[in-house]
Amino acid sequence: MNTPNTGTLFGHPKGLFLLFGTEMWERMSYYGMRGIFVLYLVAFAGNFGWDMAYFDIDPLSATAEQDYSKALQSNALGILGIYAFFVYVTPVLGGWMADNKWGQRKAIIVGGLLMMCGQFALGTPHEYIKGMEVTFLWIGLICLILGNGFFKPNISTMVGDLYEDGDKRRDAAFTIFYMGINLGSILGYMVVGTIGEKIHYQYGFLTAGVGMLLGVLLQLALSNKYLGNVGVEPSAKQKKGNEAASNKPLTSEERDRVKVILIMSFFTIIFWLGFEQAAGSMNLFAKYKTDLVFFGWEMPASWLQSVNPIFVILLAPVFAAVWVKMGDSEPNSPKKFALGMFFLGLGFVSMVMAALQIGDSETAKAHVIWLVLAYLFHTMGELCLSPIGLSMVTKLAPLKYTSLLMGMWFFFSGVGNYFAALVGKLVGETGPLAAFGGVAIMAFVAGLLLWLLSDKLVDWMHGAEDSKPQTLDEKIEEEMSVTGAHEAMPENHNK
Ligand code: GLN
Repeated sequence: MNTPNTGTLFGHPKGLFLLFGTEMWERMSYYGMRGIFVLYLVAFAGNFGWDMAYFDIDPLSATAEQDYSKALQSNALGILGIYAFFVYVTPVLGGWMADNKWGQRKAIIVGGLLMMCGQFALGTPHEYIKGMEVTFLWIGLICLILGNGFFKPNISTMVGDLYEDGDKRRDAAFTIFYMGINLGSILGYMVVGTIGEKIHYQYGFLTAGVGMLLGVLLQLALSNKYLGNVGVEPSAKQKKGNEAASNKPLTSEERDRVKVILIMSFFTIIFWLGFEQAAGSMNLFAKYKTDLVFFGWEMPASWLQSVNPIFVILLAPVFAAVWVKMGDSEPNSPKKFALGMFFLGLGFVSMVMAALQIGDSETAKAHVIWLVLAYLFHTMGELCLSPIGLSMVTKLAPLKYTSLLMGMWFFFSGVGNYFAALVGKLVGETGPLAAFGGVAIMAFVAGLLLWLLSDKLVDWMHGAEDSKPQTLDEKIEEEMSVTGAHEAMPENHNK
């Protein structure tokens, strides 16, 4: 194994906590920016040239003001939608680049610096760039999209590289890493959000850029010490001089494992489709249909957004400990995914209860407990699925495709986010009861299907979840020998 022997912290290699810290700063930057982005677009619409004429609104019409504010909001949401989708498409490119050309370490530095530039482009005060505000906006977004592509899949695969194959601590490690992600998002909402909303939106972006810079500096300063060689060489080249081997087609076992990654990633579309209602339809439900008044004081609906990351921080160590404690009876990844779907479904049952409580009334408000319960279940589902999925990809992916497949994992969550927006609109059209009920049923059916498929999926993993430890060197040896055997049996190619 090429991880340096710098000892462990809480039973895990210290490198895990460096990756935790780097990802925490990156997510602080990412979620902080996302939290204020739409508000910024609407507030500075004038500087971007988005006036009434831009939206073809007649300023003399009686509804001009309302139409204009609607047009501004939907324009802003449209830009956010494009951004959110592409941000999850580029990890495929970033993963390929790391696997084949750069290695993950270089990719995350390039990605981090690009994201920092993106935040600074968004934060450049408009008085210095008169007439180029829209250009700077798009330069900023493109840098963030590309930067995230290089950063996100590769920091995640490096977590997996810290552990030998079959090491039972891997799922727990990803769950700890996931705490870093959520600590970062809470920090982002609080620091970037507060500076952005209370002082100036563009100072918020500049702060997000500084957060990203801190992540890059942390990585540059400590990675040699705590990560050793992990992520230095592109994985496709880690064939110990046997370059030709990396060009060989996949063996049938490897293809089965890739199949498992793709099938399970596909199911995550349904998970994210439901989960991502948090910022959309559930947020609107909180604002307009939930009783948020406590002792005469009304809580801002957006506060409920932090319930999820707070539950992640509280529950992640519990989940990590439970997986490790369960030992041999720990459920396999497809079963954990199925549990994740069931929890998602339960969350939407709670939303159905909220919808039932208000019935057809226009004025009745649901109790906030339903939303808190929904977020609690959604978080439990997330912890059974998201960190487990990251861990699974690093377990199952053939060495030379690890980061590319991690990119695919994020791509499916991008598709989920896209469908989430469609479902959000449906809530407006059919009403919350039918839409939330529909998502609950979909989640339960998907969970059941996964549970039934789990044995088959585990077969296709070909022992990748077994606890027999195997070092990276052994894995390379095994891949090389299988590739050699494969050469001798060309009929395998067609299996
Ligand atoms: N919230 C998690 C993150 O930011 C999961 C994102 C995802 O996979 N869609 O990493």
